Amino acid sequence: MSSNKVVIITGGSRGIGAASAKLFAALGYKVAINYKSRQQPADDLVQKIIDGGGYCIAIQGDVSLESDVIRLFEQVDRELGRVDILINNAGILKPQSRLVDMDAQRINTIFSNNVTSYFLCCREAIKRMSFEHGGTGGSIVNVSSGAARSGSPHEYIDYAASKGAIDTLTKGLSLEVASEGIRVNCVRPGFIYTDMHRDGGEPNRIERLKSKIPLGRGGQPCEVAAAIHWLASEQSAYSTGTFIDVTGGL
Ligand code: NAP
Repeated sequence: MSSNKVVIITGGSRGIGAASAKLFAALGYKVAINYKSRQQPADDLVQKIIDGGGYCIAIQGDVSLESDVIRLFEQVDRELGRVDILINNAGILKPQSRLVDMDAQRINTIFSNNVTSYFLCCREAIKRMSFEHGGTGGSIVNVSSGAARSGSPHEYIDYAASKGAIDTLTKGLSLEVASEGIRVNCVRPGFIYTDMHRDGGEPNRIERLKSKIPLGRGGQPCEVAAAIHWLASEQSAYSTGTFIDVTGGL
Protein backbone atom coordinates (compact mmCIF):
# COMPACT_ATOMS: atom_id res chain seq x y z
CA MET A 1 0.00 0.00 0.00
CA SER A 2 1.30 3.47 -0.82
CA SER A 3 0.02 6.96 -0.15
CA ASN A 4 1.19 10.43 -1.06
CA LYS A 5 -0.78 11.94 1.76
CA VAL A 6 0.73 14.51 4.11
CA VAL A 7 0.87 13.63 7.80
CA ILE A 8 1.94 15.78 10.74
CA ILE A 9 3.05 13.90 13.85
CA THR A 10 3.56 16.09 16.90
CA GLY A 11 6.24 14.74 19.22
CA GLY A 12 7.34 12.57 16.30
CA SER A 13 11.04 12.44 17.08
CA ARG A 14 10.99 9.83 19.85
CA GLY A 15 8.92 6.97 21.28
CA ILE A 16 5.44 6.32 19.89
CA GLY A 17 5.63 9.30 17.53
CA ALA A 18 8.90 8.10 16.01
CA ALA A 19 7.52 4.58 15.51
CA SER A 20 4.50 6.12 13.79
CA ALA A 21 6.72 8.29 11.56
CA LYS A 22 8.66 5.20 10.45
CA LEU A 23 5.46 3.32 9.66
CA PHE A 24 3.80 6.15 7.73
CA ALA A 25 7.01 6.88 5.80
CA ALA A 26 7.42 3.19 4.91
CA LEU A 27 3.87 3.26 3.50
CA GLY A 28 4.67 6.24 1.28
CA TYR A 29 3.21 9.14 3.25
CA LYS A 30 4.97 12.51 3.30
CA VAL A 31 5.78 12.89 6.99
CA ALA A 32 6.45 16.01 9.06
CA ILE A 33 7.70 15.21 12.53
CA ASN A 34 7.60 17.89 15.20
CA TYR A 35 9.67 18.07 18.37
CA LYS A 36 10.12 20.57 21.18
CA SER A 37 13.81 20.89 22.02
CA ARG A 38 15.93 17.78 21.35
CA GLN A 39 17.07 18.28 17.76
CA GLN A 40 19.46 15.32 17.50
CA PRO A 41 16.90 12.48 17.72
CA ALA A 42 14.71 14.34 15.21
CA ASP A 43 17.59 14.78 12.74
CA ASP A 44 18.66 11.14 13.19
CA LEU A 45 15.14 9.90 12.49
CA VAL A 46 14.74 12.07 9.39
CA GLN A 47 18.05 10.76 8.04
CA LYS A 48 17.07 7.15 8.76
CA ILE A 49 13.74 7.56 6.95
CA ILE A 50 15.34 9.30 3.96
CA ASP A 51 18.05 6.62 3.78
CA GLY A 52 15.25 4.04 3.63
CA GLY A 53 13.64 5.81 0.68
CA GLY A 54 10.97 7.67 2.66
CA TYR A 55 9.96 11.34 2.79
CA CYS A 56 10.33 13.15 6.10
CA ILE A 57 11.11 16.60 7.48
CA ALA A 58 11.54 17.73 11.09
CA ILE A 59 10.08 20.96 12.45
CA GLN A 60 10.95 22.36 15.86
CA GLY A 61 8.03 23.90 17.69
CA ASP A 62 6.51 23.89 21.15
CA VAL A 63 2.91 22.88 20.46
CA SER A 64 1.75 24.38 23.75
CA LEU A 65 2.47 27.78 22.15
CA GLU A 66 -0.09 29.13 19.67
CA SER A 67 2.53 30.95 17.58
CA ASP A 68 4.63 27.79 17.23
CA VAL A 69 1.61 25.73 16.17
CA ILE A 70 0.71 28.28 13.48
CA ARG A 71 4.33 28.31 12.27
CA LEU A 72 4.42 24.48 12.22
CA PHE A 73 1.34 24.20 10.00
CA GLU A 74 2.46 27.05 7.70
CA GLN A 75 5.83 25.37 7.17
CA VAL A 76 4.10 22.11 6.29
CA ASP A 77 1.85 24.03 3.83
CA ARG A 78 4.93 25.38 2.09
CA GLU A 79 7.16 22.29 2.14
CA LEU A 80 4.78 19.30 1.95
CA GLY A 81 1.41 20.69 0.91
CA ARG A 82 -2.02 20.61 2.56
CA VAL A 83 -2.12 18.33 5.60
CA ASP A 84 -4.32 15.22 5.26
CA ILE A 85 -3.63 13.57 8.60
CA LEU A 86 -2.82 15.00 12.03
CA ILE A 87 -1.43 12.75 14.74
CA ASN A 88 -1.69 14.65 18.03
CA ASN A 89 0.93 12.76 20.01
CA ALA A 90 3.26 15.16 21.86
CA GLY A 91 2.86 14.80 25.59
CA ILE A 92 4.70 15.20 28.85
CA LEU A 93 4.75 13.68 32.31
CA LYS A 94 6.05 15.18 35.56
CA PRO A 95 7.67 13.21 38.40
CA GLN A 96 5.32 11.03 40.40
CA SER A 97 3.46 13.00 43.07
CA ARG A 98 0.29 12.89 45.09
CA LEU A 99 -2.21 15.65 44.26
CA VAL A 100 -1.77 17.18 47.70
CA ASP A 101 1.80 18.11 46.73
CA MET A 102 1.06 19.56 43.26
CA ASP A 103 1.30 23.30 42.61
CA ALA A 104 -0.51 25.37 40.00
CA GLN A 105 2.58 25.73 37.83
CA ARG A 106 2.93 21.96 37.44
CA ILE A 107 -0.77 21.45 36.72
CA ASN A 108 -0.89 24.29 34.17
CA THR A 109 2.27 23.00 32.44
CA ILE A 110 0.74 19.54 32.08
CA PHE A 111 -2.49 20.95 30.70
CA SER A 112 -0.87 23.40 28.26
CA ASN A 113 1.43 20.67 26.88
CA ASN A 114 -1.10 17.82 26.82
CA VAL A 115 -4.43 19.57 26.18
CA THR A 116 -4.11 23.13 24.83
CA SER A 117 -1.60 21.82 22.28
CA TYR A 118 -4.08 19.22 20.94
CA PHE A 119 -6.84 21.85 20.66
CA LEU A 120 -4.56 24.26 18.76
CA CYS A 121 -3.29 21.60 16.36
CA CYS A 122 -6.85 20.38 15.72
CA ARG A 123 -7.88 23.96 14.93
CA GLU A 124 -5.11 24.46 12.39
CA ALA A 125 -5.79 21.05 10.83
CA ILE A 126 -9.53 21.75 10.51
CA LYS A 127 -8.82 25.06 8.74
CA ARG A 128 -7.01 23.08 6.06
CA MET A 129 -9.07 19.87 5.92
CA SER A 130 -12.67 21.02 6.28
CA PHE A 131 -15.07 21.14 3.32
CA GLU A 132 -16.26 24.46 4.81
CA HIS A 133 -12.77 25.91 4.41
CA GLY A 134 -12.22 24.60 0.88
CA GLY A 135 -10.45 21.44 2.00
CA THR A 136 -11.03 17.87 0.87
CA GLY A 137 -11.39 16.23 4.28
CA GLY A 138 -8.91 14.60 6.60
CA SER A 139 -8.26 12.45 9.60
CA ILE A 140 -7.13 13.31 13.12
CA VAL A 141 -5.84 10.78 15.64
CA ASN A 142 -5.38 11.87 19.23
CA VAL A 143 -3.01 9.90 21.44
CA SER A 144 -4.59 9.72 24.88
CA SER A 145 -3.70 7.15 27.55
CA GLY A 146 -5.10 4.28 29.55
CA ALA A 147 -4.48 6.70 32.44
CA ALA A 148 -7.64 8.53 31.35
CA ARG A 149 -9.54 5.49 32.63
CA SER A 150 -7.35 4.51 35.61
CA GLY A 151 -6.86 8.07 36.96
CA SER A 152 -3.24 7.25 37.97
CA PRO A 153 -3.71 7.69 41.74
CA HIS A 154 -0.50 8.21 43.77
CA GLU A 155 1.44 8.87 40.57
CA TYR A 156 0.09 11.63 38.32
CA ILE A 157 -3.61 12.46 38.45
CA ASP A 158 -2.77 15.68 36.59
CA TYR A 159 -1.48 13.72 33.61
CA ALA A 160 -4.41 11.28 33.76
CA ALA A 161 -6.91 14.14 33.86
CA SER A 162 -5.22 15.80 30.87
CA LYS A 163 -5.75 12.56 28.95
CA GLY A 164 -9.37 12.44 30.11
CA ALA A 165 -9.73 15.84 28.46
CA ILE A 166 -8.35 14.37 25.23
CA ASP A 167 -10.98 11.64 25.30
CA THR A 168 -13.68 14.30 25.63
CA LEU A 169 -12.08 16.42 22.90
CA THR A 170 -12.12 13.38 20.61
CA LYS A 171 -15.78 12.67 21.24
CA GLY A 172 -16.98 16.26 20.86
CA LEU A 173 -14.86 17.20 17.88
CA SER A 174 -15.66 13.99 16.01
CA LEU A 175 -19.34 15.00 16.07
CA GLU A 176 -18.63 18.67 15.37
CA VAL A 177 -16.67 18.06 12.14
CA ALA A 178 -18.13 14.77 10.84
CA SER A 179 -20.15 16.57 8.15
CA GLU A 180 -17.03 18.50 7.08
CA GLY A 181 -15.19 15.37 5.91
CA ILE A 182 -12.98 15.05 8.99
CA ARG A 183 -12.78 11.96 11.18
CA VAL A 184 -11.43 12.26 14.74
CA ASN A 185 -10.36 9.13 16.58
CA CYS A 186 -8.21 8.21 19.54
CA VAL A 187 -5.64 5.64 20.65
CA ARG A 188 -5.14 4.98 24.36
CA PRO A 189 -1.75 3.31 24.97
CA GLY A 190 -0.97 1.52 28.22
CA PHE A 191 2.55 0.82 29.48
CA ILE A 192 4.77 1.37 26.44
CA TYR A 193 8.57 1.17 26.39
CA THR A 194 9.63 4.81 25.80
CA ASP A 195 11.66 7.47 27.63
CA MET A 196 8.51 9.00 29.08
CA HIS A 197 8.74 6.86 32.23
CA ARG A 198 12.18 8.34 32.93
CA ASP A 199 10.57 11.79 32.87
CA GLY A 200 8.02 10.48 35.39
CA GLY A 201 10.95 9.66 37.70
CA GLU A 202 10.91 5.86 37.30
CA PRO A 203 12.65 4.57 34.13
CA ASN A 204 11.90 0.94 35.06
CA ARG A 205 8.25 1.53 35.93
CA ILE A 206 7.00 -1.05 33.42
CA GLU A 207 9.17 -3.79 34.93
CA ARG A 208 7.67 -3.04 38.36
CA LEU A 209 4.11 -3.13 37.09
CA LYS A 210 4.09 -5.67 34.27
CA SER A 211 2.86 -8.56 36.42
CA LYS A 212 -0.42 -6.61 36.73
CA ILE A 213 -0.85 -6.39 32.94
CA PRO A 214 -3.12 -9.23 31.70
CA LEU A 215 -0.87 -9.92 28.69
CA GLY A 216 2.13 -9.99 31.06
CA ARG A 217 4.35 -7.46 29.33
CA GLY A 218 4.76 -3.83 28.36
CA GLY A 219 3.97 -2.72 24.82
CA GLN A 220 6.27 -1.61 22.03
CA PRO A 221 5.88 1.78 20.30
CA CYS A 222 5.35 0.02 16.95
CA GLU A 223 2.29 -1.77 18.40
CA VAL A 224 0.72 1.62 19.16
CA ALA A 225 1.79 3.00 15.77
CA ALA A 226 -0.15 0.24 14.01
CA ALA A 227 -3.37 1.29 15.76
CA ILE A 228 -2.67 4.97 15.04
CA HIS A 229 -2.15 4.20 11.37
CA TRP A 230 -5.33 2.16 11.07
CA LEU A 231 -7.44 4.96 12.57
CA ALA A 232 -5.69 7.59 10.42
CA SER A 233 -6.08 5.68 7.17
CA GLU A 234 -9.00 4.98 4.88
CA GLN A 235 -9.08 1.44 6.29
CA SER A 236 -11.16 2.92 9.12
CA ALA A 237 -13.25 5.17 6.85
CA TYR A 238 -16.50 4.35 8.72
CA SER A 239 -15.08 5.05 12.19
CA THR A 240 -15.14 8.38 13.98
CA GLY A 241 -15.19 9.18 17.69
CA THR A 242 -13.69 5.72 18.16
CA PHE A 243 -11.17 4.65 20.79
CA ILE A 244 -8.60 1.85 20.52
CA ASP A 245 -7.00 0.73 23.78
CA VAL A 246 -3.48 -0.64 23.27
CA THR A 247 -3.02 -1.59 26.90
CA GLY A 248 -2.31 -5.32 27.09
CA GLY A 249 -5.78 -5.91 28.53
CA LEU A 250 -5.73 -3.34 31.31
P1 NAP B 1 8.34 10.38 24.66
O1 NAP B 1 9.11 9.17 24.24
O2 NAP B 1 8.64 11.04 25.95
O3 NAP B 1 8.47 11.48 23.46
C1 NAP B 1 7.81 12.69 23.60
C2 NAP B 1 7.84 13.44 22.29
O4 NAP B 1 7.00 14.59 22.41
C3 NAP B 1 9.22 13.98 21.93
O5 NAP B 1 9.34 14.02 20.53
C4 NAP B 1 9.18 15.40 22.49
O6 NAP B 1 10.09 16.31 21.89
C5 NAP B 1 7.76 15.77 22.15
N1 NAP B 1 7.17 16.87 22.92
C6 NAP B 1 6.89 16.91 24.24
N2 NAP B 1 6.30 18.09 24.53
C7 NAP B 1 6.23 18.79 23.38
C8 NAP B 1 5.75 20.08 23.02
N3 NAP B 1 5.23 20.90 23.92
N4 NAP B 1 5.85 20.46 21.74
C9 NAP B 1 6.36 19.65 20.79
N5 NAP B 1 6.83 18.42 21.06
C10 NAP B 1 6.77 18.01 22.35
O7 NAP B 1 6.77 10.10 24.67
P2 NAP B 1 5.94 8.76 24.32
O8 NAP B 1 6.03 7.83 25.48
O9 NAP B 1 6.25 8.29 22.96
O10 NAP B 1 4.45 9.36 24.36
C11 NAP B 1 3.77 9.79 23.19
C12 NAP B 1 2.33 10.00 23.56
O11 NAP B 1 1.79 8.77 24.05
C13 NAP B 1 2.11 11.04 24.66
O12 NAP B 1 0.95 11.80 24.39
C14 NAP B 1 1.90 10.18 25.89
O13 NAP B 1 1.13 10.84 26.87
C15 NAP B 1 1.18 9.00 25.31
N6 NAP B 1 1.27 7.78 26.12
C16 NAP B 1 2.48 7.19 26.36
C17 NAP B 1 2.52 6.03 27.14
C18 NAP B 1 3.81 5.31 27.45
O14 NAP B 1 3.78 4.33 28.24
N7 NAP B 1 4.95 5.69 26.88
C19 NAP B 1 1.34 5.51 27.68
C20 NAP B 1 0.13 6.16 27.42
C21 NAP B 1 0.11 7.29 26.63
P3 NAP B 1 11.57 16.57 22.57
O15 NAP B 1 12.33 15.29 22.37
O16 NAP B 1 12.14 17.71 21.82
O17 NAP B 1 11.30 16.84 24.02
